[in-house]
Amino acid sequence: MAQTQVLIVGAGPVGLTLALDLGQRGVRCMLIERNETSIQLPKMERCNARTMEIYRHLGIAEKVRDAGLPRSAPMDVFLATSMAEAAIVRLPCPSVAEVKSEIAAHNDGRPLEPYQLISQYTLEPLLRSIVETLPNVTVRFCSELTSFTQDGDSVTAHVRTSAGADEIIRTTYLVGCDGGSSTVRKQLGIQLQGEGNIRKLRQALFHCPDLYEWIPMGKGRHYHIAEGPIFPFIILQDSTRHWTLHAAASSDDDMAEIFRRSLGMRAEFEMLSVNEWTQHLLCAERYGEGRVFIAGDAAHLVIPTGGLGMNTGVGDAIDLSWKLAAMLAGWGGPQLLASYEKERRPIGLRNVKASRAAMSGRQSWRAAYHPDIRKNTPQGAAIRDEMSSRFNVEHRKVTEILGIEAGYRYIDSPIVWLEPGDGPDPDNPQYVPTTWPGARLPHVWLSDPAKPQNHIALHDRLRAGYTLLRLGGTRVDTLNLERAMRATGAPMEVFDIEEEIAREIYGFDLLLVRPDLHVVWRSNQLPEDPGAIAFVATGRATAGDPAASCGSSR
Ligand SMILES: Cc1cc2nc3c(=O)[nH]c(=O)nc-3n(C[C@H](O)[C@H](O)[C@H](O)COP(=O)(O)OP(=O)(O)OC[C@H]3O[C@@H](n4cnc5c(N)ncnc54)[C@H](O)[C@@H]3O)c2cc1C
Repeated sequence: MAQTQVLIVGAGPVGLTLALDLGQRGVRCMLIERNETSIQLPKMERCNARTMEIYRHLGIAEKVRDAGLPRSAPMDVFLATSMAEAAIVRLPCPSVAEVKSEIAAHNDGRPLEPYQLISQYTLEPLLRSIVETLPNVTVRFCSELTSFTQDGDSVTAHVRTSAGADEIIRTTYLVGCDGGSSTVRKQLGIQLQGEGNIRKLRQALFHCPDLYEWIPMGKGRHYHIAEGPIFPFIILQDSTRHWTLHAAASSDDDMAEIFRRSLGMRAEFEMLSVNEWTQHLLCAERYGEGRVFIAGDAAHLVIPTGGLGMNTGVGDAIDLSWKLAAMLAGWGGPQLLASYEKERRPIGLRNVKASRAAMSGRQSWRAAYHPDIRKNTPQGAAIRDEMSSRFNVEHRKVTEILGIEAGYRYIDSPIVWLEPGDGPDPDNPQYVPTTWPGARLPHVWLSDPAKPQNHIALHDRLRAGYTLLRLGGTRVDTLNLERAMRATGAPMEVFDIEEEIAREIYGFDLLLVRPDLHVVWRSNQLPEDPGAIAFVATGRATAGDPAASCGSSR
């Protein structure tokens, strides 16, 4: 019988990210995948800013960018009557290189990394190749979880290989990253709640090598074709030679003809695959039970409009990973794993809501469609104007949601210090930097003492444990808090930051930051019982309990 500390079921992007983070934290884990290879079909194509920050922290952001769409490629979104016509409207979205230089030029708390277009069929093999280099991670394809049982100490998983062999794996924890039809979720009896089976669409992948260079309206990533009722939607893939088409087509055979019509120009193409997929807006009622957890599409299913599918799942993986590592290292308290569902399920529900809003924005501009839209008449022009102005407003619910991507906050988490008041709007689509407890620590640039003309990102300096940040030249003696944290056994460092700008952005002299870079506590002075903060941070007591009752004070 094989034994491991964490068994991860499913080598999609979420399972692979979890394996990477656990592996880097020194946890022994096994990743099993029922398929023979990584995904071949196109699905997700955009890692958002937060996912790219996470990949930077894992040391792989530049590898992801090297494998993805070139950094200088525009990311614009267009609405047109065909790929050969002028745009009805263009939403400019800067290239990675442009966002990078804006980030480098500003020190105002904006996210550290821009998005990256990379097709899921490129990302998964890349992540797999990186994970396979980690000595403490075992990756097994052709291995399907069929069932499991758990007791107080471990989980026993039954796995069948594609050669028909049955195997038993004993593990301390099991995480189902096994997608929308999750065996793990079903076996735990966890229901999905919300709207299922909303609509079926077809997706086809085309090799069309010349199109990218020929599009008269300009290079971009998304082209919406104003042709009701099927509304073809053409998406650039990372090679710039492959494209996907989404359309409400009635048969697979129609897809090539819809693509030809949408091109509106002679361009050689080959249809490589067609598949049907279904839109859902669902979130699991629970995120696990006992020693078994679910993450990614196993826990939430969104409409990909807004790109909150895989990206939300990567956030789940990063939240769960350090907590599992802490339990296995022996310093995690009983609230630590309980906090996974309390932190991530509200984000799952929130992102389902944001995905619904993005979809309704799209429906709103599509409702302005009329078959006369192509006509060179005053009526045709009026239809185009109406659609254009609706697109200009409503489609930003898809493309301008940095606050949803990077501004999420763990409200009501048992392992985040309770601060009086409501805090900033956690659903603001605009990103507003905040250190309100539960939020992700905003990025700041620090000057590099070795090369003062260079800047280094504070995020890059934070290690795998907790960090106590001391800012503004504070003279508060933090020794009691440091002692209390160290007494829990948790790894912790203290970091003094001289830069006034960091104090300005963070708003406080003292911040305790978790291993996943979310803020636990902030203040200008220590409370009477700093041990209470250490107890909440490490899950030994719940925020708000009498045992952890010292309020934070400015
Ligand atoms: C058309 C489309 C476009 C999308 N665009 C975006 C986008 O731009 N941005 C975004 O964030 N998201 C997007 N998504 C969503 C994204 O693709 C998913 O959210 C993502 O794949 C979820 O990753 P996952 O690892 O949770 O699950 P999956 O990718 O579904 O991986 C689950 C893995 O588990 C394996 N598995 C299942 N059961 C078992 C078992 N019993 N034993 C072993 N292995 C098992 C499966 O074979 C699979 O490999 C899109 C989705 C679609 C359909």
